[in-house]
Amino acid sequence: MNGGMKDKVAAVFGIANHRSIAYGIAQALKEAGVRLALNFQNERMGKSLDKLTGDLGDPWRRECDVTDEEAVQSFFAAVREEFGGVDYLVHSVAFAKREELGGNFVDTSWDGYEMAQHVSAYSLIRLCRHAAPLMEGRDGSVIALTYYGSEKVVPNYNVMGVAKAALESSVRYLASDLGPKGIRVNAVSAGPIRTLSASGVGGFTSMLDIVAERAPLRRNVTTEDVGKAARFLLSDQASGITGQILYVDAGVSIMGM
Ligand code: NAP
Repeated sequence: MNGGMKDKVAAVFGIANHRSIAYGIAQALKEAGVRLALNFQNERMGKSLDKLTGDLGDPWRRECDVTDEEAVQSFFAAVREEFGGVDYLVHSVAFAKREELGGNFVDTSWDGYEMAQHVSAYSLIRLCRHAAPLMEGRDGSVIALTYYGSEKVVPNYNVMGVAKAALESSVRYLASDLGPKGIRVNAVSAGPIRTLSASGVGGFTSMLDIVAERAPLRRNVTTEDVGKAARFLLSDQASGITGQILYVDAGVSIMGM
């Protein structure tokens, strides 16, 4: 089953290691025959990426810090040269300073706020701006990764909750802007998964315990669960869906008590 995705091209941002959600998505896309173009943030991360991309068939990859306009421009210029265009864009990138992911939200610094917004929310707009011309005539599809802390208060998620709210709103504005060009933009709201980024959120282990106890499916989700849903949203199977947030969280977000 490849859902018509064979030989499509996906630019995937956000693989740090084999636990990354983007890694699960890249695996799901690879299974469907999609050709991958990966980013790494800097040379050090590039070396660790080299070690784990074997499983993904040694895909094309380039350095690209999403806060750097020129770097993003050159990344997509290189993608155009290598692949001729792009069909899918995966934004699985976020960052907040550790000190902002605990304590009182009212103490959020401007620097911390700005950085979280730039890396975790504005970067989606920037990536879409550079990817959209490469999607012309290709029914492009974009997904971003978000979390429930955007809409309800989750202790310690703080500045990242506000960044995710901006990200989700950006998904809707981008969907409206890019829809006339045939480009769809959606987000997957994933339940908590133990990754490098997640380990920075205070009390993360207890979040996993609470989900396993209260979610309708009585378990946490995996990067495989998220990968399959992401592949669906990117594919033509989701051709009528845009501007939406799809919850892949074992159902925990439907529970009131
Ligand atoms: P992860 O493995 O740590 O991935 C985060 C990625 O963001 C890393 O590859 C990181 O690269 C990259 N990144 C950070 N700053 C960057 C920059 N300036 N330029 C380019 N790349 C940058 O963690 P993850 O949990 O898979 O996170 C992926 C996405 O899922 C994030 O949007 C996160 O908020 C979201 N999410 C996670 C969970 C969860 O519980 N894990 C739940 C819902 C949503 P470096 O390692 O090089 O910094």
